[in-house]
Amino acid sequence: MSALKPKRTVAELKELRALSGDDNGAQRVAFTPTWLKAREWLHSKVSPLPVEIHNDAAGNTWFTLRGESEKCLLIGGHMDSVPNGGWLDGCLNVVAGVEILRRINAQYNGMPPVTVRLVDWADEEGARFGKSLFGSSACSGNLDMNEARGLVDKQGIKLPDALKNVGIDFERVKDSGKELQNAAAYIELHIEQGPVLLDLDLPLGAVLGTFGVERHAIAFHGQAAHSGSTPMNRRKDAFLAAAKMSPFIYSLAEQHGGVCTIGSCTTKPGIVTSVVEDCRITLDQRHLDASKLERLYWDARDASEQFAEDANVEVSWERLWQIAPRPFNGELIALCDESIRETCGQSHRLPSGPLHDAAEVAAAGVPTVMMFVQSLHGISHNKIEDTKEEHLELCVTAFDKLAEKAMRWIAAKD
Ligand SMILES: [Zn+2]
Repeated sequence: MSALKPKRTVAELKELRALSGDDNGAQRVAFTPTWLKAREWLHSKVSPLPVEIHNDAAGNTWFTLRGESEKCLLIGGHMDSVPNGGWLDGCLNVVAGVEILRRINAQYNGMPPVTVRLVDWADEEGARFGKSLFGSSACSGNLDMNEARGLVDKQGIKLPDALKNVGIDFERVKDSGKELQNAAAYIELHIEQGPVLLDLDLPLGAVLGTFGVERHAIAFHGQAAHSGSTPMNRRKDAFLAAAKMSPFIYSLAEQHGGVCTIGSCTTKPGIVTSVVEDCRITLDQRHLDASKLERLYWDARDASEQFAEDANVEVSWERLWQIAPRPFNGELIALCDESIRETCGQSHRLPSGPLHDAAEVAAAGVPTVMMFVQSLHGISHNKIEDTKEEHLELCVTAFDKLAEKAMRWIAAKD
């Protein structure tokens, strides 16, 4: 009897792939003609429903099905992709959201208990200007206007000019914040983009939040010296200090949880016949728990001083970037878990390594949760990104149950 047709979602995702992809993958890069074409397609799918449609000041598209209460359930996703991207990243969330709007509209004869809004965020990927979560961070108020004003693409075009071309006034983008006025819950479905659910052989998981990040450059300073004439006990070897410290830093993630990555290492003078004078490594540490992230950072920092002292070199730290963990709402996580168990028997709770628009909405104070569906190969941002069709159908079913539970949750509080 349910009006929900998960197979239709899969068919529509294939339709979108044919419309906006090529042999190299999805090409829906934000603010390009292909992205606009994909958005027109989305418009054509939703417009038969009794919804109000508008773009906000940051270029996010809102589809609103009015309900008995002004309080809103928000369902979010992003039509934009990276260049040569996968066929599901971002658009699965939106296309599944369309199916859920259809079901809700049919079940409640156009008048659900609460207002339901589907949002297509503008430029989640940041592929062109190197800054992710544009539309959602403008909406949450977190967008750094000075930084964004100076962003330039590879052709030398400034972000404000690119926005002007698609009818957006950069200086007003934060006006989009008013869209969150009656937001009572935000839910987002996404492919996992990693291997956790695949390794557990589970189709779906409830997301606990997005990791906080500490990103630093660590510079060791020693002394260049001839590799033949300098005895081992007289050296100030900056590389040796960095190298000895690295396994210790990795062991901190085993101890406290989270993940850490030494992503680059450069040495000077960097020639085969000299002891290394300067060694610079970058460290990226991530954790869902703010206090544990702090432990990861300070333990690494303290250890670096010890390793430097042992090698008779100096060490200094420079912060490159930082973001706080964004834990999701406990009650919504429980509802998400329940929806998954009712759909496929078993659920799993996991944090998200990548950031998502949901992190911005959560930061704006709206109770938020995400649902992940398994990624084959554990890979995304690549044309080989894929998910089994049976899992895609399951995720639409489970996500629809979550939408229903979240609506009732909002209505009960109203
Ligand atoms: Zn995405």
